Amino acid sequence: MRWPTIAVGLVGYLLLFGVLTIQDQLAGPQPVPYTEFKNQVANKNVGALFARGNSIQGELKKAAAVPDEQGRTYQQFSTERPTFATDDLLAELTGGAATVRATPLVAQRGFLANLLISFAPMLLLVAFYVWMFKRQQGAMGGLLGGGKKKRVDPETVRVTFDDVAGIDEVEAEINEVVDFLKSPEKYRRLGARAPKGVLLAGAPGTGKTLLARATAGEANVPFFSASASEFIEMIVGVGASRVRELFTEARKVAPAIIFIDEIDTIGRARGGARALGGHDEREQTLNQILTEMDGFSGHEGVVVLAATNRPDVLDPALMRPGRFDRQIIVHPPDHKGRVEILRVHTRKVPLAADVNLEQLANSTPGMTGADLANLVNEAALLAARRTQDAVQQRDLTDALEKVQLGTARNVVIPEAERRRTAYHEAGHALLGMLQPGADPVRKVSIIPRGRALGVTLSTPESDRYGFDANYLRGRIIGALGGMAAEQEVFNIVTTGAESDLEMVTRIARSMVGRWGMSERIGTLSVLPAEGDPRMFGISNGLLDAVDEEVRRITDECYAEARRLLRDNRDKLDAIVIQLLLRESLDEQEIYAAAGITRTVNKPSPTPIPA
Ligand code: ADP
Ligand code: MG
Ligand code: ZN
Repeated sequence: MRWPTIAVGLVGYLLLFGVLTIQDQLAGPQPVPYTEFKNQVANKNVGALFARGNSIQGELKKAAAVPDEQGRTYQQFSTERPTFATDDLLAELTGGAATVRATPLVAQRGFLANLLISFAPMLLLVAFYVWMFKRQQGAMGGLLGGGKKKRVDPETVRVTFDDVAGIDEVEAEINEVVDFLKSPEKYRRLGARAPKGVLLAGAPGTGKTLLARATAGEANVPFFSASASEFIEMIVGVGASRVRELFTEARKVAPAIIFIDEIDTIGRARGGARALGGHDEREQTLNQILTEMDGFSGHEGVVVLAATNRPDVLDPALMRPGRFDRQIIVHPPDHKGRVEILRVHTRKVPLAADVNLEQLANSTPGMTGADLANLVNEAALLAARRTQDAVQQRDLTDALEKVQLGTARNVVIPEAERRRTAYHEAGHALLGMLQPGADPVRKVSIIPRGRALGVTLSTPESDRYGFDANYLRGRIIGALGGMAAEQEVFNIVTTGAESDLEMVTRIARSMVGRWGMSERIGTLSVLPAEGDPRMFGISNGLLDAVDEEVRRITDECYAEARRLLRDNRDKLDAIVIQLLLRESLDEQEIYAAAGITRTVNKPSPTPIPA
């Protein structure tokens, strides 16, 4: 049922009710005063009469005029006999030859009609519930009760490996799945067991969902997809039956792919931090998935793909042999991958001759496929707004600035605050430039964007895969540079350093508790990726020691930041003057303002795995 149906029902009900009431009133007996009735009795004009208690209904022999209403006459009437009346009504009536009847003159509204009217609100209510239920089912993908199947036919999935760029590393592995789905016979003949479950793991936006769809598109098999988060939204017990249905449907049309997105929402390890509620539902749904996968003999030709951003929190039961025993790590793209992804996404975008995607890829290390797709789209929007025929390099760099730094806000900042912000950002930038081995400073600006009053952007020279302790200390010193500069120059602490401090704490804690970079803690992994370390048998004493080490590192870094700024106060002031003048400085301008010649840093020769 849709809203219109309900509206029609409601209007219908009101109409019916209205008509019945009006009809009652129009066709029903005319209420008359008792005195009028007595007049008619006296005139011997009353033909028939029915009384119940003091209520009287009757019919006149000849129609009479309605009292006080001109032009209207009545024949049937009703009236009330006052209890204090002492007249001998019966005698008078029989004198006038009136029949006193045993049944009402006017038929009351039929029993059925009354029933209908009194039940109508309930019927409406029931109809409403049915509608709500149907709607909920629809929202659940409609696999219950034979709603529309959430199956995507290979014809409609027009995504192939051509649309996925920079996946050379994983292509071989994923091709194996494609080959199996394309010709399962080949494998069956040799008695080879097919891959049952493949887990795609990687940061958000790296193209896991895209890769799964492309696998189906490439193998030209049906693609059944479900997001694990939708299972949890369902009412209890439905998640498991939805899973059953998904597998049944897939088996029917095998070879096929079942794709479960965001599997970490239901597949979290016990003891990890879980959201409250929906607990049983997760477990039931997860168990159902595992049961279905265990039930495969391996010859059904159904491959289950799952994606997650958090492989580290998954229940190990998921990764047992015969389940998701293959893992494909999808990394953010490297320089070559970024160029290819930019090519894919600019296929349908007219590009001006000056566009250099290689150069754009240079300044986008760390960005994922989704980020790059977004960047291209922003640039196209900009070009359209500037009424150009093609996207120029300028649009791309402006879009990059917007994506990396946020949209500029149009607010007037008081001069004193502007100056303080300039020192804060100059502090970050100067320390970034002074640290040997730190990422070069790309941009400094005191134009307010989002919640921030200013930004300093540093990005690595080329892709980095691991970081050494020195580099991380440099990052902490740089991040503390803003706060240190404010304190050095104005001797105040402001709220402006909130996100800087968050980052500093995160890096320092990881250095000590996860990466073995503190001699006192040594080579212990104290802080788990998630959850309470004490659950993993870490003692309170060790945790206290971690806290002390974190404090020691940040204190040392802060002192170093202040010392560097004090020693280079002239450079700091020079950057601030330029910043206040121009609001936004690019790489060359910053280094020029500080009088520092930029040295090209190479990241550590042997990358350290992260
Ligand atoms: P994930 O599932 O890993 O979070 P998605 O697959 O949803 O990421 O990616 C979002 C979008 O980003 C895709 O629809 C696509 O437009 C773009 N994208 C991501 N990775 C790639 C890639 N390797 N090649 C081309 N486009 C990509
Ligand atoms: Mg996804
Ligand atoms: Zn800052």
